Amino acid sequence: MIKTKNQLVAKIKEHNSLLSAAVMGLGVGLIITVIFTKIGVVLVLVALMIKSFGYPMSSTIPKLIKYRPVTCPFCRDISQVRINASEFTCDNCGNRLAVAENGKVRLYKHLKLAVDNSPTVFGKPVIKAPFNSGVEV
Ligand SMILES: [Zn+2]
Repeated sequence: MIKTKNQLVAKIKEHNSLLSAAVMGLGVGLIITVIFTKIGVVLVLVALMIKSFGYPMSSTIPKLIKYRPVTCPFCRDISQVRINASEFTCDNCGNRLAVAENGKVRLYKHLKLAVDNSPTVFGKPVIKAPFNSGVEV
């Protein structure tokens, strides 16, 4: 699930380059057939247009959604998290974190998630201890 701004920007760029590459491939393919060269040229131009929309789209679409900064207790990195998200994956270290209403990482649930996601040794979870998460237990 996409919960942070960086993840959304990355997703838009990924879809945009896939789409433009697909249209470009089709266009070049049609140019080679000689019969459909005109359609091919149009498709190549469309592909270039899609490509050029990638940057403005990836910078404007995330602005329509409200985010708030949440500090990861594992790596201290600040992710821009969707305002209504109750959990997210840290942009930097990839840990899944639960967020409380006040925008702070919820310690109990977050420890539980950390245990759920941690690797196990002989059936027991190996948990990385978080730094101070800013939440009193
Ligand atoms: Zn992190």
